[in-house]
Amino acid sequence: MTEVRAPDEATVGGTDGLMDKIVNLCKRRGFIFPSAEIYGGFRSTYDYGPLGVNLLRNVKNNWWRTMTQLRDDVVGLDAAILSPPAVWEASGHLANFTDPMVDCRNCHERWRADKIDGVCPNCGSGDLTEPRAFNLMFKTHAGPIEDEGAVAYLRPETAQGTFINFANVLTTTRKKPPFGIAQVGKSFRNEITPQNFVFRTREFEQMELEYFVPPDEASTWFAYWLDERLRWYSDLGIAPEKLRLRHHAPDELSHYSAGTADVEFLFPWGWDELEGIANRTDYDLKAHAAASGERLEYFDQATGERYVPHVIEPAAGATRAMMAFMLAAYDEDEVGGEARTVLRLHWRLAPYQVAVLPLSKKETLEPLARRVLGLLQPHFVCDYDTTQSIGRRYRRQDEVGTPWCVTVDFDSLTDEAVTVRDRDSTLQERVPIDGLIAELRRRTGDV
Ligand code: ATP
Repeated sequence: MTEVRAPDEATVGGTDGLMDKIVNLCKRRGFIFPSAEIYGGFRSTYDYGPLGVNLLRNVKNNWWRTMTQLRDDVVGLDAAILSPPAVWEASGHLANFTDPMVDCRNCHERWRADKIDGVCPNCGSGDLTEPRAFNLMFKTHAGPIEDEGAVAYLRPETAQGTFINFANVLTTTRKKPPFGIAQVGKSFRNEITPQNFVFRTREFEQMELEYFVPPDEASTWFAYWLDERLRWYSDLGIAPEKLRLRHHAPDELSHYSAGTADVEFLFPWGWDELEGIANRTDYDLKAHAAASGERLEYFDQATGERYVPHVIEPAAGATRAMMAFMLAAYDEDEVGGEARTVLRLHWRLAPYQVAVLPLSKKETLEPLARRVLGLLQPHFVCDYDTTQSIGRRYRRQDEVGTPWCVTVDFDSLTDEAVTVRDRDSTLQERVPIDGLIAELRRRTGDV
């Protein structure tokens, strides 16, 4: 099959080359590597390196914390990735989860019809085939026999795993609408045009909440979740002017939706989707109830009332959000007449929150530096770096977004104090070791 090219791959850098800088930083510092690189790579798949795995995990953990820990109306779930055709038959994905695909008759490139203007972005020819529906689900076989009875699909979203567990969660938790079920995990879509680094890949991670509400409260909760979700991104450091909500026009809505709005971020190539918030009505629960014969509804014992809840779904991409957080945090400035690159990441997202740096490699500093490290490790994610000059080490930490560096010097041996350097202001302050945790906590603003 012809490999499909993204229309805007050539212009992915945007006007200031920010994308190129991020892609380069990701590779150079171990955030994201192209997958299977030693075998020439495998298009649209990426591996998350030592710093990337921390950042991505922090994105997911902060979503989980906001959605479940800080609320009493949302519980978690982790459903299977492999699922039988019946699930996708009932949900409508087998029939509807498609993108329109066209081929250029001149150069034989393949494109997503809704992303190009009737002209092949590769050769400029207008001689394109009629659009054909291309189903985005990855199909595989479970077990040793590859026949129709063994067909399984990799989930293209986590939501259906939530709907098919609705009754299980309801009976085990005794929740009452309005309540939600949160899920974080991998999803797979055979995208025709993967593009823009990890913005659109065939394997990605989602963070989805299905929030079940009484039908007459759906529009109120839809508005509530738009505000909540927008605020989550700005609370974690994205400037409000780089975020906006875009309501879908009626002809844009998915087959299940009574209203959808996207949280958009100003990417280097323009405004694009970070997260979709949809009013899915009772479509999914009714569809699975009809197909499975199970009752998927809420019964209020106090009032004797029985109804199928409506669902408000904020569906975000974790890998896409991670990239947006990096783009938003990237900055270049000058310190002491020297250019530096700095990722101004929120401390909750930073791959390392604190770096412990002995001023010199001399062995006399090592025991104390290691003691300070051991003191901090249970409370903060720490790096320990003894290589190169202290100035170089500060720059390396700035570039990966470490908010605080703690330097152990020769005075520390006698005054039992260390120097705390702030990433953004570069200001340094002497802090007694026995007050270090309290001081760092104070700086997080999370005391
Ligand atoms: P699009 O129309 O851009 O293909 P979508 O609107 O179908 O995407 P949703 O089904 O709403 O996307 O998925 C919810 C979120 O999951 C998206 O907002 C995005 O953050 C993330 N996501 C979806 N597809 C991908 C992908 N191929 N790669 C990375 N993240 C994705």
